[in-house]
Amino acid sequence: MPDFKTRIGQRQAEWIALRRDLHQHPELGFEELRTAGIVAGRLNDLGLEIQTGIGKTGVIGLLEGDHDGPTVLVRADMDALPIREENQVDYASQTPGKMHACGHDGHTTIALAVAELLSAHRSEIAGRVKFVFQPAEEIGRGADAMIRDGALRDPVPDVALGLHVWNEAPVGIVGLVDGGMMAAAGDFSITVQGKGGHGALPHIAHDPVVAASQIVLALQSIVSRNLDPLETAVVSVTEVRAGDSFNVIPSEARLRGTIRAFSKTVMAQLESRMREIADGVAGAMGCSATVAIEQLTLPVVNAPEVNTRLREVFTRVAPHITLVDNLRTMAAEDMSYFLDAVPGTFFFVGSANAERGLNYPHHHPRFDWDDEAVIPLAVELLAAAVAAYVLPD
Ligand SMILES: [Zn+2]
Ligand SMILES: [Zn+2]
Repeated sequence: MPDFKTRIGQRQAEWIALRRDLHQHPELGFEELRTAGIVAGRLNDLGLEIQTGIGKTGVIGLLEGDHDGPTVLVRADMDALPIREENQVDYASQTPGKMHACGHDGHTTIALAVAELLSAHRSEIAGRVKFVFQPAEEIGRGADAMIRDGALRDPVPDVALGLHVWNEAPVGIVGLVDGGMMAAAGDFSITVQGKGGHGALPHIAHDPVVAASQIVLALQSIVSRNLDPLETAVVSVTEVRAGDSFNVIPSEARLRGTIRAFSKTVMAQLESRMREIADGVAGAMGCSATVAIEQLTLPVVNAPEVNTRLREVFTRVAPHITLVDNLRTMAAEDMSYFLDAVPGTFFFVGSANAERGLNYPHHHPRFDWDDEAVIPLAVELLAAAVAAYVLPD
């Protein structure tokens, strides 16, 4: 494997400047036209084969090696959030109400830097690298849109890699989790239909408020009583609506909320128990219930065999980092769509620096991360991970 360190040292200032330029010009999901233009321009300069407009604003760059071998997919997301930035830095967002508050400006930069490093080794590459620059991660729609537009065909990837800068951990911590790492998310609504009436005459009504209240409590037994205690999940009712008068029993009550889990099996179990509970409890109260569940994202599930390879590579190229296997989160990520179709891994690169105040959480108006430390490290890790598959030792 080539030693990328020297080149990274020469180029890192420019990459940090690129990240800060992207940071100043945040674009929301499916509107990433400026970002996509910069990405396509740079990939074109590197001599990659480019496709634009994949999943509306996505860009794919294919780096074809001179020798035959596997296809590695590298995924980076490009979108920002509808947040008004509160950081007082010279590279703060220039667009009021929009902000790179998750670090996707960094992911785009890191993947471009890896494309740059690897394209210098085209004559030695056995296989190819498909760089996928994805829109609209924050709304959970971009990965699916790109896959529908053929991102996983021609060539079909053998392994998929991606990373997230992660402010829940300091610089120097890198998280590689086997199996479920980020949650599948779903949103649900339950409509309880009863029979309205006078608040003083409950005996001739079927009160959907009482039924809905019992459903809220009964739903809390799914995680505690139905799931294997070694599995985990979240069932949160976040919205309760019924009635608009003090003396009228309404005819309908509505519940909404979210469910999260680390595996498709647990998600299916949550769904079926929610339906049984809503139906059964509503029925016992003389009401009926309709349950609608929309799956927003799949769980991010990493392939242990890919992690084994990456652990070995990371330890070799960056012996100073601390590799951990417990950075899991109930947050969702649509990298899951790529990992559902292709074995691979998504890893967290710790990015917080508390001494410099760079430790606000993701999606906070003061979120920022230590780009000077993280960009060179993340570029080296990702380049080495790809090289482990396409560049012989
Ligand atoms: Zn985010
Ligand atoms: Zn993110």
